[in-house]
Amino acid sequence: MGVAGKLSCKQCSYSQNVFFGIGFKYIDLNRILEWYEQEEGRQQIKEFINKENTEFECYDGLYVCEQCKYILNSVFLHINSKDSSYTNSYDCPRCNMAMPKKPVLDDVNSGLLDCPDCKEEKLEMHLNMDWD
Ligand SMILES: [Zn+2]
Ligand SMILES: [Zn+2]
Repeated sequence: MGVAGKLSCKQCSYSQNVFFGIGFKYIDLNRILEWYEQEEGRQQIKEFINKENTEFECYDGLYVCEQCKYILNSVFLHINSKDSSYTNSYDCPRCNMAMPKKPVLDDVNSGLLDCPDCKEEKLEMHLNMDWD
């Protein structure tokens, strides 16, 4: 089950709606292929679907740019099989640095993220509801 929330900053006007976790469309690779957009990832999914012992992780999380603190709410996908693996990756839309490999999913309830705009405050998180 996923969770929806809103990040906001007390110091400036930054706010962003965010989603975490696993939705019903995330539980098998054929379903993921129906909505997954990145072309590279789609190719990988198609290859892995037919491999032996394929396991995968797929969920929505927050990636935080190490350089400019930009927060990207996006889907994490990691697939592995007996002899190969694939992890998706993103570049920061603001400064083009490579984003960390994994989202900081565990910070959902903490106010630990720095504001990406003013960088003076920690962001507040308000959780809304389950989104699926
Ligand atoms: Zn950045
Ligand atoms: Zn701010």
